Amino acid sequence: MVRINEHYLKLQAGYLFPEIGRRVNQYISANPGKNVIKMGIGDVTLPLVPAVVKAFHEGVDEMAKAETFKGYGPEQGYAFLREAIAKNDYKDKGIDISADDIFISDGSKCDTGNIQEIFGHDNKIAICDPVYPVYADTTVMAGKTGRYNSGHFEGIIYMPCTKENSFIPELPKEIPDLIFLCYPNNPTGAVASKEELKKWVDYATKNKSIILYDAAYEAFITENDVPHSIYEIEGARQVAIEFRSFSKTAGFTGTRCAFTVVPEELKAYDPEGKALSVKPLWNRRHTTKFNGVSYPVQKAAAAVYSEEGKKEVSEVIAYYMENARIMKESLTRAGYEVFGGVNAPYIWARTMNGMSSWDFFDKLLNEANVVGTPGSGFGPAGEGYFRFSAFAGRENTIEAMERIKRLK
Ligand SMILES: *Cc1c(COP(=O)(O)O)cnc(C)c1O
Repeated sequence: MVRINEHYLKLQAGYLFPEIGRRVNQYISANPGKNVIKMGIGDVTLPLVPAVVKAFHEGVDEMAKAETFKGYGPEQGYAFLREAIAKNDYKDKGIDISADDIFISDGSKCDTGNIQEIFGHDNKIAICDPVYPVYADTTVMAGKTGRYNSGHFEGIIYMPCTKENSFIPELPKEIPDLIFLCYPNNPTGAVASKEELKKWVDYATKNKSIILYDAAYEAFITENDVPHSIYEIEGARQVAIEFRSFSKTAGFTGTRCAFTVVPEELKAYDPEGKALSVKPLWNRRHTTKFNGVSYPVQKAAAAVYSEEGKKEVSEVIAYYMENARIMKESLTRAGYEVFGGVNAPYIWARTMNGMSSWDFFDKLLNEANVVGTPGSGFGPAGEGYFRFSAFAGRENTIEAMERIKRLK
């Protein structure tokens, strides 16, 4: 009798976005013709930039000719892309990461989930609350947790992020082995300063833990002193893995390309306590279970680092960040307490008059025809908050803010 992986039964049925969809559809069928503005999505809306599209086309054309056709590529990714990343994202910024430390993949969602497989089954995992749900759900699937209980899985160390701690968790008392951090943060839009990241690197060093650093939103940083990479912190090469993605940076959510950085010096321990290098393990997993990202996509990703590519991508990001600025200003003027939106495409707002996240969702939908994301959907510590994304168009953003201003 074949058995299922029973840990999957502990997962909460994808609740947040289906529930949002259900309420929106119900409203629209009861109120046909209403212009409902969606500011809930964590997906980009502007098309790929011209430099990227050109390289993408060239890649396809190469595949169409016998002389330039390519079959399987290197599993770790083509050297031209890994070298462009190492140079532009790291070396030019004074960060010591080489092309050999970089592993190209089809997404940070997969990477942040898959990475757990190279670490021992009984490792303790710490995640923030509220959080991007992938870190917790993949931990559950791997059978590392107990049951779900009022918003939390037993066995995971949850680190509350609230306005009292500026959405940067305190160092946990119970010591985790793997620590998921994401800055600039989804959903709170918060950033961690160098001093704050240094505390985490020192903590991981002292406790022989590893930080899994999700930097999916680093391209949205506008303030000079905010770190773009965990490797800007001394000692991080020994204790951190960094995940980056072209998804939000360059509109690749539907194109798929990302990368993971595993420095040579990063160590984990065997049962006898002997320190072993982590990179060969990730290389082994990647080359055994993954056969590389398609060649035209890697060509397209490399074009993000061309002169035109950089300029065009930064204009797209500036467009989203102008939306964020408008939203932050309008919501503040309307009396809301708002966070984020300066170095991340998300605004994290306190709900009106201490309403619950879902009550506020219903009020916004019914009275302003604006859809956002209830903060409680990202974890219990998100209760009483609401996430607005800056990925809607300019006109809709302005219109949504006008409607919110008129809310009673
Ligand atoms: C969007 C997002 C990613 C990117 O995931 P991809 O699989 O690369 O599209 C990673 N982390 C967070 C927190 C995100 O919001």
